Amino acid sequence: MTNQTNTILKNVFGYDNFRPLQEEIINRTLEGKDSFVLMPTGGGKSMCFQIPALIFNGITIVVSPLISLMKDQVQALKSNGIKADFFNSSISVEEENNVINKAINGELQLLYLSPEKLITVSNSWLKQLNIKLVAIDEAHCVSMWGHDFRPEYTQLKIFRNSLPNVPFMALTATADKSARKDIEAQLGLRNSKLFISSFDRKNLSIEVRGQVTKKKKLQEIITFIKRRKNESGIIYCLSRKNTEEVANYLQGEGHNVAFYHAGMSNEEREKTQTDFINDETKIIVATIAFGMGIDKSNVRFVIHYNLPKNLEGYYQEIGRAGRDGLPSETMLYYNMRDFVLYSQFADDGANTAMQKEKLNRMLQFAEAKSCRRKILLSYFGEHLTENCGNCDVCENPPKDFDGTILSQKALSGIARMKEKDGITMLINVLRGSNNADIHSNQYFNLKTYGIGKEISFFDWRDYVIQMANQGLIEIMYAENSALKITPIGWQVLKGQKKIRLTTPISPNDKKKKQK
Ligand code: ADP
Ligand code: ZN
Repeated sequence: MTNQTNTILKNVFGYDNFRPLQEEIINRTLEGKDSFVLMPTGGGKSMCFQIPALIFNGITIVVSPLISLMKDQVQALKSNGIKADFFNSSISVEEENNVINKAINGELQLLYLSPEKLITVSNSWLKQLNIKLVAIDEAHCVSMWGHDFRPEYTQLKIFRNSLPNVPFMALTATADKSARKDIEAQLGLRNSKLFISSFDRKNLSIEVRGQVTKKKKLQEIITFIKRRKNESGIIYCLSRKNTEEVANYLQGEGHNVAFYHAGMSNEEREKTQTDFINDETKIIVATIAFGMGIDKSNVRFVIHYNLPKNLEGYYQEIGRAGRDGLPSETMLYYNMRDFVLYSQFADDGANTAMQKEKLNRMLQFAEAKSCRRKILLSYFGEHLTENCGNCDVCENPPKDFDGTILSQKALSGIARMKEKDGITMLINVLRGSNNADIHSNQYFNLKTYGIGKEISFFDWRDYVIQMANQGLIEIMYAENSALKITPIGWQVLKGQKKIRLTTPISPNDKKKKQK
């Protein structure tokens, strides 16, 4: 058996080696048993049912909700000489009849179906087919606890029960423990074996930059894409308006860019997507509506223009880069403003507590000062023993030092300014700057005026944010971002508690290191 699978891998698909777990999954399927395949996007899930489909003497049914993808997948299979076809709402009656005939005559090895179509035909011609395997792609859609529930999926259990002796394979890239249980039950899997492949995508570098102004962010993105001429990338934005703004800006700078969001017509969206897949458009600025079901292997970078809402989404989105395994870059920008905005959104949605918790985890990740991949993977239940060496923290490990005195300077500045000013004013006072606001407030009379001259504005800003992250101060967004001292902050100010800070890394240092 193994020999045959290897031969197919090489001769049909042109690959020398299986990826982890593929072979085990294929062998189990050939034994007629059910499997649950949890692999990251780009992990190579399709191969797990495609190879058995070529070995079985009959037809394999593939259920997928991604109608836009089916055509491409089937096309790719056909170009490898495989007898495959699809059946969904996008084809004409004539084409439908053609596919039905081929299926009934045993001329197909693989048939892709949308769940809606499967339900409507499961009691008619589908009954005549010699079905040897059923693969349920995007299996998380069956669970109400998942993030993409599709009611049609709940009917699949009936189909499963009508084929008690046929192996079923559920495949997904996202399902935590409780979701997995639910999926197995909903699909009626029998003694299914769980295969989880590593979610570690070593070829993706991870970088995060916080508190960057909009102007600076756009400049950095321009520099970033200039260094990657003719490479494909995706820039994710929070709002539809944002996607258009950023795309227009980049177009104005002469870059080959288009935007994409759910407010566009189907035709517009399809065209944008096709142009991107065919490398006619290099960069897409999109909301998270973009990407689900896009099979493009050479995406070289993914930039998040705003903080994603949770780590699941973030990981799935960066996972669209580097599916071919070649080094690819990811960059996440975030602002406390994004965080505050989402927290407000979360207030009026369902699942509030869970959403808030996930958002907090997202922010903790963005602000982390230890290996980011370790944090990400441990969130998904995988624990790396070594630091990854391919994230910004690994490349520029922060040095930490006793920051008590430094914090006391800032805290006493805040106290003397009566906790009514924001970061910029505080730093200007600490650095002894001379401007109209300082004069009108007579801040040059404060004892703290100029006590932090030796530290740059940039570094002060970083320290103040660290102080906020460690709970010494709070940034009151509803009060012009005034800084308030917390009980812990008062302890530090009174010398009752010590605090450690890490040396800021200036963006210039980072660039130097990259070259
Ligand atoms: P998924 O469905 O898990 O997102 P795919 O099945 O689309 O991933 O596979 C992603 C890419 O990896 C595809 O281009 C596929 O041809 C390739 N691939 C799959 N298995 C192997 C393998 N054993 N060796 C090399 N490339 C592979
Ligand atoms: Zn790392």
